[in-house]
Amino acid sequence: MTKALDWENLGFSYMKLPYRYLAYYKDGQWQKGELTEDATLHISECSTSLHYGQQAFEGLKAYRTKDGSIQLFRPDQNAKRLQRTAERLMMAPVPEDMFIDACKQVVQANQDYVPPYGSGGTLYIRPLLLGIGDIIGVKPADEYIFTVFAMPVGNYFKGGLQPTNFLIQDDYDRAAPHGTGAAKVGGNYAGSFVPGQLAKERGFSDVIYLDPATHTKIEEVGSANFFGITADNEFITPLSPSILPSITKYSLLYLAEHRLGMKAIEGDIFLDDLDKFVEAGACGTAAVISPIGGVQHGDDLHVFYSETEVGPVTRRLYDELTGIQFGDVEAPDGWIVKVDEQ
Ligand SMILES: *Cc1c(COP(=O)(O)O)cnc(C)c1O
Repeated sequence: MTKALDWENLGFSYMKLPYRYLAYYKDGQWQKGELTEDATLHISECSTSLHYGQQAFEGLKAYRTKDGSIQLFRPDQNAKRLQRTAERLMMAPVPEDMFIDACKQVVQANQDYVPPYGSGGTLYIRPLLLGIGDIIGVKPADEYIFTVFAMPVGNYFKGGLQPTNFLIQDDYDRAAPHGTGAAKVGGNYAGSFVPGQLAKERGFSDVIYLDPATHTKIEEVGSANFFGITADNEFITPLSPSILPSITKYSLLYLAEHRLGMKAIEGDIFLDDLDKFVEAGACGTAAVISPIGGVQHGDDLHVFYSETEVGPVTRRLYDELTGIQFGDVEAPDGWIVKVDEQ
């Protein structure tokens, strides 16, 4: 039985669900993981995740389809990205099948909290990899925790498919050119709190960061990738080694080309060139597609399509993507993984 929650107005906040998955890495191998009702982690005060930021996370969603079944969207891509992040931080990689199995188990055990089809809600899944143990020297841990928990969520940015404005930030960078920008690690986020707060105080949804080397190109939004649509039917998204490679972004590149017949391009988006874009948006698992009304840079507010209405191409991309995720539109091969219900 699905719980009686206010499914239409979930927002994006933590909710302690009955079950989460927990596995330990010890003596050079992963131990068998299991579901637990204990939502508190018990780790050494000397854990590398606490002192040196040796931690990584992922984010994906479970979707309720029209027939009541539950499915995941491209979890293999999240598994592979967590492995790449683990490699960058010298952490024990989580095998892909273990990752997907853990996500499925958590969704299944908490299936009453997967929002009903049509409510707009989804079950957000948060896998977390932490270096633990008693190591004070600056070196990687010998022991790790892999945990996966979940919560029902609605919109990440207020407004959903309503456009909002973003602030282009000159004074702060999210990541360094050869740093950890492409790894999904907490450290990239802690440093974004100050610029994020400054943007929110001025009424913007979030910050748009510039490329850290030259500050002439758009890099990404604090927690989502950027894309623009040109009048020539091109879908363009920035290419940079310090951007977090968004699975939503790569899915949209594919859909723009193969379903909407657009030219899909990963390339430079110069600040001086924003006039060529007739629409723009931010994309990510949490944000889905958030239309960008305008971007403020210094004293200049650049409006793409409209500050109040979503553009037609952005809407088509949104419908195609969410149609696939909720099972209404045929998915490209391998994009959907079903979760068996109990
Ligand atoms: C997770 C994340 C994204 C979005 O990636 P998806 O795979 O689409 O969810 C974008 N930018 C940053 C900084 C992120 O951490």
